[in-house]
Amino acid sequence: MINEVKTTRNILKHSFDDLIKYTEVDVVIAGAGPSGMIASKYLADNKVKTLLIEKKLSIGGGIWGGGMMFPYILVQKDRRIYEILKDFGIKYRSEKDGLVISSIETASKLCAGAVNAGAKIFNGIAVEDVMIRKNRICGVVINWAAVEVAGLHVDPLTLSSKFVVDATGHPSEVSNVVVRKVGRLKTPSGKIEGEKSMWLEKSENLVVKNTKEAFPGLYVCGMAANAVFGAPRMGPIFGGMFLSGKKVADKILNKM
Ligand SMILES: Cc1cc2nc3c(=O)[nH]c(=O)nc-3n(C[C@H](O)[C@H](O)[C@H](O)COP(=O)(O)OP(=O)(O)OC[C@H]3O[C@@H](n4cnc5c(N)ncnc54)[C@H](O)[C@@H]3O)c2cc1C
Repeated sequence: MINEVKTTRNILKHSFDDLIKYTEVDVVIAGAGPSGMIASKYLADNKVKTLLIEKKLSIGGGIWGGGMMFPYILVQKDRRIYEILKDFGIKYRSEKDGLVISSIETASKLCAGAVNAGAKIFNGIAVEDVMIRKNRICGVVINWAAVEVAGLHVDPLTLSSKFVVDATGHPSEVSNVVVRKVGRLKTPSGKIEGEKSMWLEKSENLVVKNTKEAFPGLYVCGMAANAVFGAPRMGPIFGGMFLSGKKVADKILNKM
């Protein structure tokens, strides 16, 4: 007969098994927004041991809010985007200006796609620092997000990974830590160039172009790529985010 203690024991056993299993991985992705989830699926599809770490309890980043909380987002009519929608089973309605997709369906199916492919997701955990050896990022330092919110002095734990991806969106939190503590990024100034004001037509291409290695062992994708390499924001259009997630996965697969 099930009881409270047995429930507790089963939850703890599986959680600790996961934590121990994922102390050493191939790729850590910080941030479960659209680009991070898409990257996770395509890496995991290729048998890469992938850990996606999200500091909020909910997975999906900025997708849920659609455009000003209207629950739809747009993606472009592009062959590569049709393929991604198909891979995740996301339905779309074709309009003259692009493909309209539900933000709720998109967030849920991107998450399901990453998990079904074999990526592991830790939520409620924040990446707060990186581990470095021989001028190369080789892991992340993590703590419960609630510890940060409560302002508690609690030492973090560390996971090792061959590659780290900063998919933390506008704040580009991992890259910020690298600039503060480790050294120059591969940007013109060596620092975070900073996100610029809204310019959709320009930035949808730039977010893909800016998806690259920002420091040895550290890749940036999604809005973090535009923040780090200095490009405009683009609002609730997500084609660039989708392609950025796919590109970072392809780049890491090539390196591996
Ligand atoms: C709350 C929010 C509001 C937004 N509002 C707007 C807007 O008004 N206009 C606009 O143009 N764009 C906005 N965006 C961004 C927009 O939704 C993006 O175009 C798109 O969502 C970016 O996708 P992304 O893959 O870069 O990651 P995002 O969707 O930005 O998601 C990043 C994820 O990383 C997580 N994260 C951050 N730091 C850490 C960390 N240290 N460790 C672990 N996880 C971390 C975040 O909780 C989030 O879930 C917003 C995004 C968010 C998260």
